[in-house]
Amino acid sequence: MKNTAIYIHIPFCDHKCIYCDFYSLVSYDNIEEYLKYLKLEIAYYAKLYSQNRIIDTIFFGGGTPSFMTPNYIGEIIAEISKNFNLDQNAEITLETNPGTVSKQKMAEFIIAGINRVSIGIQTFDEKELKFLTRIHNKETAIKTVYNTAEAGIENISIDLIFSLPNQTKKTWIENLNIAASLPIKHISTYSLILEKGTILNKMVLDGKVKMASENHDAELYKYTMDFLTNEGFTQYEISNFAKENYECRHNLYYWEYRDYLSFGTAAHSFVNGERWWNFSSLKKYISEIEINRNAKRGSEILDKSQILDEYIMLGLRSKGINLSEIKKYSDDWYFEKKENINSFIKERYLIQTEERISCTQKGYIICDEIISKLI
Ligand code: SF4
Repeated sequence: MKNTAIYIHIPFCDHKCIYCDFYSLVSYDNIEEYLKYLKLEIAYYAKLYSQNRIIDTIFFGGGTPSFMTPNYIGEIIAEISKNFNLDQNAEITLETNPGTVSKQKMAEFIIAGINRVSIGIQTFDEKELKFLTRIHNKETAIKTVYNTAEAGIENISIDLIFSLPNQTKKTWIENLNIAASLPIKHISTYSLILEKGTILNKMVLDGKVKMASENHDAELYKYTMDFLTNEGFTQYEISNFAKENYECRHNLYYWEYRDYLSFGTAAHSFVNGERWWNFSSLKKYISEIEINRNAKRGSEILDKSQILDEYIMLGLRSKGINLSEIKKYSDDWYFEKKENINSFIKERYLIQTEERISCTQKGYIICDEIISKLI
């Protein structure tokens, strides 16, 4: 039996945030229709891949999955359970935006099967929330965490963004202090990235907004790692911190290069060394599923050297390169890179144990540079 993860993309949002480049729609006209086609896609791939597999995690991402009704989410979980072998202890995560769920609605999500919630708070600072055009305020963000905990979810994660334009170290520290006071088990902290095609990108190009400098970004990132480590969180990926036993099992599938199936618009899957991706447009997704029962836009089978490079990159960004596993992709890599590896170890950017080579916290700060030397 092979453990496998499933990702479900729910593309509907209340509005478009200025920094967001995810595929999301602000019209709700097709919500019910989308459910029908998701079910058809799930059934199609189950015929191909359900044998000898156990579904270990399901992740509802978006968009804003918490806008959906608990019944809607429950129907998708039931469809997966009907078509695949769903582990009864599977981790089932719902991405949730503050302001979209009451305690009652969260309790109904639990009945539907949700047992982990990832809340997209981004910042507790009122000015920064306005700048990011989020629909919630500080009070709603905090209330959503408590509502979730009181409804019965123990495994709560929050997302925060740092290096926002004009964000001072002081406001970022305040964000971290509030986060640490909440009943959460996991934090993802991302530095704001300027994505092409976003409103924010245009604002920067027009000179209306200035992005934070690299030095400021590195300073906030270093502070974050020290702070969260002191608060009892372990860093297990460049942007992710968890209390003991609360690492996100789903995300580990991506970082450890294990199989995952994804359904919905713009979804990417990776199974048996093949990667494929769906059409992004909802209209196209629906028409493709109608005709072919799948909405595959493209696919690739990675060759050995691509797999090796990706394995190294993902390993260094997370828990490290497993020295026996990497032999599956290359016998020579370690010996070819030994000099570079040793010099990074000497400067305490990398650490090597019998089992693996990993970035230290100092190493995470220059992770891209390390990766470029080791691939
Ligand atoms: S709520 Fe999330 S997915 Fe939707 S537009 Fe905002 S950032 Fe993007």
